[in-house]
Amino acid sequence: MHHTKFIIVTGGVLSGLGKGTATAAIGRLIKGVGKIVTVKCDGYLNVDPGTMNPVEHGEVFVLHDGGEVDMDFGHYERFLDIDCKFSWNLTSGKIFNSVIARERKGDFLGKTIQIFPHITNEVKAWWKRTLDEEKPDVMMIEIGGTVGDIENAWYIEAARQLKKIVGSDNVCYVHLTYVPFLDSVGEPKTKPAQRDIALLREKGITPDAILCRSRLPLSKKLKDKLALLCDLEPEQIISAPDIDDIYEIPLMFRQEGLLDLLQRRLQLPSGQDLASWEVLVNNIRTPQRECTIAICGKYTELRDSYASVIEALTHAGAQIAAKVHLRWIETTDIDDGKLTPAAALAGADGVLVPGGFGGRGVEGKIAVIKHARENNVPFLGICYGLQLAVIDFARSVCRLPDANTTEINPATPHPVIDILPEQREVYSKGGTMRLGASKNDIKPGTMAAALYQTTECWERHRHRYEVNPEYHAHLQAAGLVFGATSQNGRIVEFIELPNHPFFFATQAHNELTSRLERPNPAFAGFVRASCKLPPVEQALSSHQ
Ligand code: GLN
Repeated sequence: MHHTKFIIVTGGVLSGLGKGTATAAIGRLIKGVGKIVTVKCDGYLNVDPGTMNPVEHGEVFVLHDGGEVDMDFGHYERFLDIDCKFSWNLTSGKIFNSVIARERKGDFLGKTIQIFPHITNEVKAWWKRTLDEEKPDVMMIEIGGTVGDIENAWYIEAARQLKKIVGSDNVCYVHLTYVPFLDSVGEPKTKPAQRDIALLREKGITPDAILCRSRLPLSKKLKDKLALLCDLEPEQIISAPDIDDIYEIPLMFRQEGLLDLLQRRLQLPSGQDLASWEVLVNNIRTPQRECTIAICGKYTELRDSYASVIEALTHAGAQIAAKVHLRWIETTDIDDGKLTPAAALAGADGVLVPGGFGGRGVEGKIAVIKHARENNVPFLGICYGLQLAVIDFARSVCRLPDANTTEINPATPHPVIDILPEQREVYSKGGTMRLGASKNDIKPGTMAAALYQTTECWERHRHRYEVNPEYHAHLQAAGLVFGATSQNGRIVEFIELPNHPFFFATQAHNELTSRLERPNPAFAGFVRASCKLPPVEQALSSHQ
């Protein structure tokens, strides 16, 4: 246990300051020290976020192993280029479940079961299990919520105890706080941060570094003042002002001396290298070309529900120094006749239909796909996007005008999209979809093969429906190409159309495996095509 170094990340004052991004950025900053594991501790009582409304909670991120987790894991993977595991996500739901199950079994017979020590011990036992399984060089632990919340108190207490167990030389506490800028007095105010740090101390944690979220960088004078009042050194105060692009954060932290501080504090070996990262950030900062992508879906009121899609577009753009402008199309407006597909897509260089569920906005999505198909506009369909592209193709090209998915119309005469056989008897909603990564066989000679430069690939899923095998032959005979299938040949994983600049759809959620330094091939090809470049370039085919 003593070989592993720990970085605990907590937050204060208010939520939404970007603790997940900050944790990911610290991870990228120290990448090179060896194996890094990122653990996230959430306070809520859901066992996992799979059942939460994305409008309320943001996107559900699906891991390689099928675990449904929150967006912060997306940040960890995109910054660190690692595959996280479901067991790295603790929720109070999981912890309480496990303690109560053990109580019922009689494990604690005679004892009174309490938050302290039974829940805190369970938290530490989860951390220890991950440690034993992974044997990381650095274990980062992000604690959700803010210090002082009732529902993360057991994590904060377990984090405090950690330094007793592994020795204070092996634990570094990083705390994200907030320094508001008061327009009426024209200056930043440190009082909330002072109170916040005092509260952290009250819980027994003395921070090693304070990340100060603020509108502008903190002046030296302000850092000195905060350090003095909080009994810290000025170099422990790290400025974290608003910036346009989250991928700049590791560079900003390095400039602020956070890498040096962590290296000194934890005696980390050197070997960190941000050179390739810097090139990509520069590409984002100073783009050479641009394109406009129309994202057609619902939930457009909350961009967080498509967070990984947006990031995957950014990654693909960064490779070719392209600025990707996003245009949000609410497809219910097309359903309702308020907007025509042609008007919605005027001037768009590419059309993206992301994943989704249910009937609202669906006819509008099918209409934009048809428009992209008929007008040679690059198209990328994701999960529901693939299913709806198949419906458009069946209706328009196979001449099956009533074709539909049984998700919307169980009585359709042409169920070209139907429920997966293993999903028929599933009624419970937690973690029951087809979830996680599976290996696909790519058909040689297809666009998919050109994009992936290989005959097999792993992509992640989250769905209940599929292209109905009874229609495979009919669809293919009419010209739809299955670029990849599941290894048993049953599930259509990628579709594409020849004689179109870029018409590609995937049953998987390809956005989930995209990283800044390794964009997903489907997104790379789509953004290239939307910038009027050939979709594939040898140099870009390093994925997988
Ligand atoms: N609703 C579709 C299904 O369950 C698509 C799901 C998705 O896009 N994630 O298969």
